[in-house]
Amino acid sequence: MTHILHRQIHTELPVAVGGKGVELFDSDGRAYIDASGGAAVSCLGHGHPYVVAALKAQAEKLAYAHTSFFTSEPAEALAETLVTGAPKGISHAYFVSGGSEANEAALKMARQYFVEKGEPGRRNVIARRQSYHGNTLGVLAAGGNEARRAQFRPLLIETHHIDPCYAYRLQKPGESEEAYGQRAAQQLEDKIQELGADTVMAFIAEPVVGATAGAVPAVPGYLARIREICDRYGVLLIFDEVMCGMGRTGTMHACEQDGVAPDIMTVAKGLGGGYQPIGAALLSRRIFDAFAEGSGAFQHGHTYICHPMACAAALAVQEVIARDGLLANVRETGAYLRSRLEARFGNHAHVGDIRGRGLFLGLELVADRSTKEPFEPAKKLHARVKKEAMARGLMVYPAGGTIDGKRGDHVLIAPPFILDRQTADTIVERLGEAVDAAA
Ligand code: PLP
Repeated sequence: MTHILHRQIHTELPVAVGGKGVELFDSDGRAYIDASGGAAVSCLGHGHPYVVAALKAQAEKLAYAHTSFFTSEPAEALAETLVTGAPKGISHAYFVSGGSEANEAALKMARQYFVEKGEPGRRNVIARRQSYHGNTLGVLAAGGNEARRAQFRPLLIETHHIDPCYAYRLQKPGESEEAYGQRAAQQLEDKIQELGADTVMAFIAEPVVGATAGAVPAVPGYLARIREICDRYGVLLIFDEVMCGMGRTGTMHACEQDGVAPDIMTVAKGLGGGYQPIGAALLSRRIFDAFAEGSGAFQHGHTYICHPMACAAALAVQEVIARDGLLANVRETGAYLRSRLEARFGNHAHVGDIRGRGLFLGLELVADRSTKEPFEPAKKLHARVKKEAMARGLMVYPAGGTIDGKRGDHVLIAPPFILDRQTADTIVERLGEAVDAAA
């Protein structure tokens, strides 16, 4: 008997009692390879001694100090670390407790920026249909996951959606990747013109789409064109790197690989690696300056912003990633894992696409590989794969997305950055059995 309102009321969950390295253990003594990092969170795996020691030391020193009275050493140090490694133009960090809060803050920053600049007519947000930016009402409005939005629609502010950059489904036969990228980006310009540029404040997108699409990177040139369009119309560009950022794709930020810098970037999940709840909105100098030269404050705040324990955990996680050169392992073992996935699923009747970057990989599951026809939604295939995988001691993240009214089934693979080749082999072996059993 539980008194928790769990995500699924009628599903009995195993009780997680421990974790070490890439594995989690339940109260029945079963071990699970955490090939999804929870939901692309546990980038260092579990029980990392350096992070545990840093947390203990911080708890003994200072657990909490309210930000209207004090700043703190770990928050200042983390901000410096993040800004130092951030894309061009980013100058400050705003720390919150997770991804939804980070995106809420980003949208409010964008709005306040234009108010400070004397352009209060800019209020429209443009986002993409296949996207997820969080579950609180503001960012649920921005996101394009209809299944999550449907019943809350009357409560959501009006936002505007364009198609995602999703080559597997939307690139036309015979069309080059470059041409497709330009065509997909053109939708943004069309939407800005339709709404009136002086009404649009921001465009928000995930550089590599996670939970709604299973690790879909943009095609080359798409994000650069998006940047140009935003600049032309004075629209702020927000990159949601909550899932794909902080090293998961093999570079600290996914957008580095596209050579594009946003005005605001949000990060969370891998920032604290699950050791504490933490997220951040990283903002560029021009936004900071508008606040500094204008009202002198960002009109926002939560009780737990800049939480010292959360910042200390994130700082320790980032120190380990740098000290142990883990981004190189993300690239190398990521390429190896991908090659094993391609060997196992390259000709699989129900795997339409294998994609992603670094240790952020996805499979798109289809009923018919040649027509790309998705499975019937009632089959809930992605959930079945998850169940079959758990039964084999493997955690993979099931992702469902909607595009053109059809539900897609995706499997997201986002293991800890400490993954080795042997464990990668085991992941592919167990996942193969799970997909065969479910499909
Ligand atoms: N943005 C993206 C891209 C995400 O994947 C998620 C969570 O999955 C969020 C935002 C919301 O983050 P959180 O669940 O920490 O609020």
